[in-house]
Amino acid sequence: MTAQNKTDQNSDNNHNNDNVLQSTQSVIADALDKLGYSSEVFELLKEPIRMLTVRIPVKMDDGSTKIFTGYRAQHNDAVGPTKGGVRFHPNVSETEVKALSIWMSLKAGIVDLPYGGGKGGIICDPRTMSFRELERLSRGYVRAISQLVGPTKDIPAPDVFTNSQIMAWMMDEYSRIREFDSPGFITGKPLVLGGSHGRETATAKGVTICIREAAAKKGIQLEGARVVVQGFGNAGSFLAKFMHDAGAKVIAISDAYGGLHDPEGLDIDYLLERRDSFGTVTKLFKDTITNQELLELDCDILVPAAIENQITEKNANQIKASIVVEAANGPTTLEATRILSERGILLVPDVLASAGGVTVSYFEWVQNNQGYYWTEEEVEEKLEKVMVKSFETVYTTAMNRKVNMRLAAYMVGVRKMAEASRFRGWI
Ligand code: GLU
Repeated sequence: MTAQNKTDQNSDNNHNNDNVLQSTQSVIADALDKLGYSSEVFELLKEPIRMLTVRIPVKMDDGSTKIFTGYRAQHNDAVGPTKGGVRFHPNVSETEVKALSIWMSLKAGIVDLPYGGGKGGIICDPRTMSFRELERLSRGYVRAISQLVGPTKDIPAPDVFTNSQIMAWMMDEYSRIREFDSPGFITGKPLVLGGSHGRETATAKGVTICIREAAAKKGIQLEGARVVVQGFGNAGSFLAKFMHDAGAKVIAISDAYGGLHDPEGLDIDYLLERRDSFGTVTKLFKDTITNQELLELDCDILVPAAIENQITEKNANQIKASIVVEAANGPTTLEATRILSERGILLVPDVLASAGGVTVSYFEWVQNNQGYYWTEEEVEEKLEKVMVKSFETVYTTAMNRKVNMRLAAYMVGVRKMAEASRFRGWI
């Protein structure tokens, strides 16, 4: 890639990320307004309270040293320690991490966890890095942010292109620095290192529960419903499997390189076997469709489970699904949200639909703190209760206040944080 191309691409990303942050801020402003809070509350919540940028030198396998840029944002810690994933992706930017940390605060508020939101990211492409390079990068990141994080301060977790192995390296590095075993420093760990049953599938389970609840509201039978899933990473792949197992027809899936479509339903088990650890599978096939075509397919339920800004004002009128459930963070722009809601499409927003991940992360942290571990059934039962209650709270708020589900979710999500900030005497 030439330097100019790179600059163009970065400025595009920055532009999209600016939109993501601005949109989030504008929905927060609306939510606070509806709840009757003063503008001071908005001033406090519109940006993270703390933002760290780090430069991480990593010895590459070819002997060279590469310097990576990383971030950790802590949005608001009035309710409790901040919590949220670390993303390894070439498009990570400061603005994106800020917006993602705000979304984590909202998720924690919606599912009622004793946390504020945090988020981290490193600008890198793990698909082109070796296992050893990734280990050095993960450890270097923890060394760089170690002063700011900890089991009672800020608790990282997996996000796009990070997994339980990366969490294990990070936990090990943190434990070495602090000189005591610290499983509660990070969640999404392997089971043998204090991970929780059900964490790997938690985001998809939460999305599945939201789909079931939304379908019931719309009078759609899950059995035989046509489902399109964009993205085949942690959330997308497990979700496709759960939908398939529930008797729905998954007619299309995609990864970063394209999509597969079969109106009769795809063989999800086969695709799961063939996907690589980054969720890539479509490269094995000749007849692919684009991600844009995929979003516009005729279906009942559409699940964007990939990245930001996928449903925009350009394609919102072409969406054929009756229900859109956001498994990714920020896949629908504000303008598109408005169009979908005017068209009577039920949109279950990211901050609600994808909150299953952080919910089971919380369960993991609780188990680490008490040193007593739960069975898979116990975790699933608890997650089910949390998600059903949260969906109902947001849905009822939307109905009673006559607002769309995104604004309703923000109203529910922001309230506890605003109250806690007030009790602490900050505002
Ligand atoms: N990265 C996930 C999210 O965006 C999970 C965060 C966590 O488990 O703390 O919700």
